[in-house]
Amino acid sequence: METAEIRRRWLAFFERHGHTVVPSAPLLYDDPNLLFVNAGMVPFKPYFLGQETPPYARATSVQKCVRTGDIEEVGKTTRHGTFFQMNGNFSFGDYFKKGAIEFAWEFVTGSREEGNLGFDPEKVWVTVLGPGFHPDYPDGDVEAMEHWRAVGMPAERIQGRSLKDNYWHMGVEGPGGPCSEIYIDRGPQYGADGGPEADEDRFLEIWNLVFQTEEITDVKAKDDFRVVTPLPAKNIDTGMGLERVAFLLQGVDNLYEIDEVFPVIRAAEELSGKRYGASPADDVRFRVVADHVRSSLMLIGDGVTPGNEGRGYVLRRLLRRAVRSMRLLGVQDPALPTLLPVSMAQMSKSYPELERGFSRISQIAYAEEESFRRTLSSGTTMLDSAVAAAKSGGAGILGGDKAFQLHDTYGFPIDLTLEMAAEQGLTVDEEGFRRLMGEQRARAKADAKAKKQGHGDAHAYREVADSIGHGVEFTGYEEVTSEV
Ligand code: ATP
Ligand code: MG
Ligand code: MG
Ligand code: MG
Repeated sequence: METAEIRRRWLAFFERHGHTVVPSAPLLYDDPNLLFVNAGMVPFKPYFLGQETPPYARATSVQKCVRTGDIEEVGKTTRHGTFFQMNGNFSFGDYFKKGAIEFAWEFVTGSREEGNLGFDPEKVWVTVLGPGFHPDYPDGDVEAMEHWRAVGMPAERIQGRSLKDNYWHMGVEGPGGPCSEIYIDRGPQYGADGGPEADEDRFLEIWNLVFQTEEITDVKAKDDFRVVTPLPAKNIDTGMGLERVAFLLQGVDNLYEIDEVFPVIRAAEELSGKRYGASPADDVRFRVVADHVRSSLMLIGDGVTPGNEGRGYVLRRLLRRAVRSMRLLGVQDPALPTLLPVSMAQMSKSYPELERGFSRISQIAYAEEESFRRTLSSGTTMLDSAVAAAKSGGAGILGGDKAFQLHDTYGFPIDLTLEMAAEQGLTVDEEGFRRLMGEQRARAKADAKAKKQGHGDAHAYREVADSIGHGVEFTGYEEVTSEV
């Protein structure tokens, strides 16, 4: 079943059940705490918090999402995209646990002829919040458990899990609540028996039903937050990974092999002369390329441009990682002019605006590849000789001064140095690097002060702002990895 068909069925199912179809919000949504929309509920947040009155009691959407915290997983797990699409159904004080569980069961296991997904009910596992993790649920989420039993789930395939898996929040302050997740057993060839609690590769999480009931703050981790107050209404917020369902229904092994993504891997095979499936290390690179090209396409499509901070830095990093992965596959020539149009041809089936905007989108992407190629060709020689020196001196570590020089002279962001050094078996003295960066920033500040006292001309301010902006570069990296 094509991804576009699953999307169509999703919206039609919930529309039939009284939900208003709401188009995806852009990835750059106006939420100061988030780099990008990371879940389907984000655009509805004011409704959940009771700050605004929703114009409908039930809504459904297929929301574009980017999770920067998942970048490191891409290509290594079977199931994480940087960009992905989240199917959602939402109830604003309307139906609650019973309704959400009944809809989910019908859509997942109902017949394909009638527009559902038609998964074998025997392969479905679910989880609920287990006992002892939340003061309001001393015995666990008994209510959710009973609704699952009522639709026909046997008790052996309902597992109780901790807050880490069965409490959902945005990763920042906002609405939250206990949740119930739906998993599909992919079969013994993918791992041991024992349900999702035992193996999340064999048992693939496809859908999370969140019982949105409280407002939380001080979020430090999935299971570390503080409850502020109950929400004014009992809401439902669900999220199903469209690509995950697609990979199951298309009978392929992972998210990168679905119709919307795989053609980029094919194009990368052609460019490189290497075959996907021949070497595990190369396969990760192929998957990273396919994911990052698609994610970059969607981000530029929504108005992000490469930069040294925040959102722009995430995009820059994705584009650069795609280009570097192609190099590691042996391709020295520009790759994006071949790969990006292939991704656009797939994604424009659901997002026709990508085709209309493609000349702008592609110019931005290709220019970034060109500038990165220049950076690489000037810095790589220096990096290689520093690596060789460190190795011949018997040190397994590249000095912080070298990393600083690469940054300062050649524009190598620290994460690039880390990655390239790791490929040659070296770590980097990051602490030393950060110290030198700090010293440089202090010098720039002192200079600024001196200039201000001297003549205070606007040009000097700009210079300082630029130099500080440069130093801020690796804050972007911290933001990339700090999202929960
Ligand atoms: P996982 O445990 O696999 O990382 P999650 O628990 O973080 O997933 P949720 O926050 O519950 O995911 O999001 C709801 C749904 O969105 C998931 O059940 C999954 O189907 C999908 N999803 C989440 N993250 C990704 C991703 N990086 N790529 C593709 N789909 C995703
Ligand atoms: Mg996750
Ligand atoms: Mg999970
Ligand atoms: Mg989940």
